[in-house]
Amino acid sequence: MTASQQRDDRPHQSSTDISATGMNQAPTSLLSLTVAPAQVLRGYHALEQSGEAIARLGHRPLVVGGEHTLASLTSQLQRVLKKQQLQLSFASYSPDCSETSLTALREATANHQANLILGIGGGKALDTAKLLAHQCKLPVVTIPTSAATCAAWTALSNIYSDEGAFLYDVSLDRCPDLLILDYSLIHTAPQRTLVAGIGDALAKWYEASVSSGSSTVTLIIAAVQQARVLRDILFQKSADALKEPGSEVWQEVVDATVLLAGVIGGLGGAQCRTVAAHAVHNGLTHIRSAHDALHGEKVAYGILVQLRLEEMLQGNQLAASARQQLLKFYAEIGLPQSLEDLGLGNITLAELRGAAEIACKPGSDIHRLPFEVVPEQLMAAMISTTTPVEKSRSQLDVTVAVK
Ligand SMILES: [Zn+2]
Repeated sequence: MTASQQRDDRPHQSSTDISATGMNQAPTSLLSLTVAPAQVLRGYHALEQSGEAIARLGHRPLVVGGEHTLASLTSQLQRVLKKQQLQLSFASYSPDCSETSLTALREATANHQANLILGIGGGKALDTAKLLAHQCKLPVVTIPTSAATCAAWTALSNIYSDEGAFLYDVSLDRCPDLLILDYSLIHTAPQRTLVAGIGDALAKWYEASVSSGSSTVTLIIAAVQQARVLRDILFQKSADALKEPGSEVWQEVVDATVLLAGVIGGLGGAQCRTVAAHAVHNGLTHIRSAHDALHGEKVAYGILVQLRLEEMLQGNQLAASARQQLLKFYAEIGLPQSLEDLGLGNITLAELRGAAEIACKPGSDIHRLPFEVVPEQLMAAMISTTTPVEKSRSQLDVTVAVK
């Protein structure tokens, strides 16, 4: 629903009614909702059947993806789109979803006289395609090739340096015009990408409940509750899904990570933001050796760090038991529990401090926690994500004494 529709739907009132109900107050800032893609096509071989839907959006698409994805999917795309007589051009987003790539891609868009952007690949490819379309004011189609994030759904792009360090995010004016969720493509992705997607999707609950758990805003209440439903679906179905890739339960978990996680971001909007789990991820992207770990793997570890902070700094016993519950779940499905599991067992103290300082920068989402966090406390949490609960109390005393 657009903002103008919302205004039209209000009951009409006479001017006396308006003053009586206080509606002659200054107008509040206009809320723009970006809840969902205009159309979602979902199923096995969905891409094969999407030619017409793509052609409705534009006849000169620029296809944006990673080099590997473009090499393996070009012939399939050409087959689908040739039937519609579309003029295709292909461009890689290499080296990353960065300002440099976007400059080159804007040029490629102009050279091809593209009137549609088609993003295909993982989260970074889709984030690049969405932001490119936003900058060029063109429609965009997203085709995820893994279930590792909800980037195919959301009106948000993360920008990285050419070296892959997280820099900032950009809110887009709308969700994609068309999302094609083709299970046959997702099925060919390494299993690890779905595991990472589960980690990223789980964060919705742990972060939204902290940033927005006491909100009285209708749509934010709805988003937080959906985040809990999402968590429960993942707890119940993930292990079975990973045992039977391609099965019905596997499709349900793919829908949870790609679609339902996106719904929550869309409903909750900017106010229902990420907290410490993503801030820890953002800090870790500045360590070169962390680049082999996937976004959702770093975020999953970040959830444990966030819970650890709540335990250590607030004495929050609920956070302590939530962490134990997650450690068990992570062990079952193969999500990282510690820096060692992320391949960061040998990083230097300076690297750890650097990541913690970035995560604690002013304006970082970590400051949405209801208490203050300084880099020393974050470092202590980062190295103790697997600490048994019994020891937590004495560790808290040590931390406080060190402070
Ligand atoms: Zn994420």
